[in-house]
Amino acid sequence: MLATRSIALPARGPVAVACKPRSSLRHVKPLNVAAPEKAEVVIAAMELEERISAHVPESQPSTSQPAVASQLDIEAAERKARRQREQSTYKYAAIAATAGVTGIAVLTTWLRFYWHLRDDGVMPWGELAATLSLVAGGVFAMEMWARWAHKVLWHDFEPGWALHKSHHMPRTGPFEANDIYAIMNAVPAMALCLYGFITPNIVGGLCFGAGLGITLFGIMYMFVHDGLVHRRFPTGPVGDLPYMKRIAVAHQLHHSGKYGGAPWGMFLGVQELDAIPGAREDLERLVENLDAQGGLAALERKPRT
Ligand SMILES: [Zn+2]
Ligand SMILES: [Zn+2]
Ligand SMILES: [Zn+2]
Repeated sequence: MLATRSIALPARGPVAVACKPRSSLRHVKPLNVAAPEKAEVVIAAMELEERISAHVPESQPSTSQPAVASQLDIEAAERKARRQREQSTYKYAAIAATAGVTGIAVLTTWLRFYWHLRDDGVMPWGELAATLSLVAGGVFAMEMWARWAHKVLWHDFEPGWALHKSHHMPRTGPFEANDIYAIMNAVPAMALCLYGFITPNIVGGLCFGAGLGITLFGIMYMFVHDGLVHRRFPTGPVGDLPYMKRIAVAHQLHHSGKYGGAPWGMFLGVQELDAIPGAREDLERLVENLDAQGGLAALERKPRT
């Protein structure tokens, strides 16, 4: 069990409103207990939600213990159903954004070098090498930027924390205020790509590469952070890769605040923990626990931290 998983999430949304007279009962059962998988409970929850949205008062439940338990089961199943709807909303937004950005990146890269070849008659290999090394450099620079900005601008700086704290609290819809940072990082990336695209020399090639690097980092970050770690969409077998597991658990340690918020970066978070005495051993122990629970995919059925 990860340390961060033990935080009980407060109940929220329509059910919490609908069950006002029973609000004290919400604490009878810890809310981080996995929801029952029974299909009929999910269906019951859907019907309950339909009644709520249609403003039909629900029948008065009896006060006996089994009724209390089933009421809690319905609440848990309703939360699960809502979570799945939010997950699919976010998933389609993420797929559309990734497909759009990747398509534009591939097309502009091809066009840029195609025009060179057409006009000069030779492939500008030097410029291509410069572009590619700036893609790698851009990804690395973004990891270093994230390491710095995540701590100094998003946590320690009050206006930055105003947005980022939405990511450290239970999400209340498909998106969170923190998602604005992803859009903000897209602005310099697009500016660099655009400048590089219309500038047919080595400087243009470098800017174009840097813009692509920031974009690639953004896509990787979204996949690993939002998908793999926070389960906002399914990520398939990628989470079984040993290093991916360590990246995910390292980020869980950021959320737990155990090492004063470290690691602040994402892909080199494991290296950040290496610098803290005992932290790497702790990470390995948590990875072992995760494996014993069936890996990252098993977290899909549990609430987000
Ligand atoms: Zn944070
Ligand atoms: Zn996170
Ligand atoms: Zn989190």
